[in-house]
Amino acid sequence: MNSDPFFTFLAFVTQDAAILQSQKKIAQLSFNRQTFIDDLKKLEEVLKDAQLKAHTAKKNLDAQELEIKILRDRQRSLKNKLESSSSPKEYFSLETELKTIAQDIDTQENKLFDLFETYETLEKKMGETDFQMVTARAQAHEQTAQIDQTIAAEKTILEEHTALYDELKHHVNPDMLEKFVSMKEMIENPVVPVDKNACSACFNAISTQDLVSIRKHKLVPCQNCFRLLYTPI
Ligand SMILES: [Zn+2]
Repeated sequence: MNSDPFFTFLAFVTQDAAILQSQKKIAQLSFNRQTFIDDLKKLEEVLKDAQLKAHTAKKNLDAQELEIKILRDRQRSLKNKLESSSSPKEYFSLETELKTIAQDIDTQENKLFDLFETYETLEKKMGETDFQMVTARAQAHEQTAQIDQTIAAEKTILEEHTALYDELKHHVNPDMLEKFVSMKEMIENPVVPVDKNACSACFNAISTQDLVSIRKHKLVPCQNCFRLLYTPI
């Protein structure tokens, strides 16, 4: 361990920043993972809806076919009666009823055709959604497995940084540590490197005098955001 308190502090701050970065990466990965799951759930709902619609259309189609069958049965029975009718009056009455039934059958068959078209369209849509679902499920499975692997690897990295952080914490100058901890309560990155003579967090230009002090390992606050500044080694 370097005996210069500045370097110990810097090493400590570096671990703190690495922990933060690692935590953010894990949070983002978990968010991405959840997005895949949510998208899959949405698609499942779409499929359920398509299945229900196709099922209802099939029921309507079956009911319509039954209605036509009843009409045809009645038509057959009337035709039989007509053949054996005993009086012209009865014959005329049966003939009138048969004409009405023929018209009814015609109307109901047109309706059946429309219902069949609706059913076909909905069934096709259901098949397409089902196919999408199979693909999406496989993709989500593969991608969440990949994300899980990345999260596990990142958690190992986080553990390593945390262990180093905990170790370094014992060696940091107590005043520096106190200052850092109290600043950390207000801001996630209280100590940042200088980049091109400016604060790397808020991009405020640093005065020459401050730059000299920073190079001498003094912890100088940024005049704009008040973060403590250091020059990367
Ligand atoms: Zn700043």
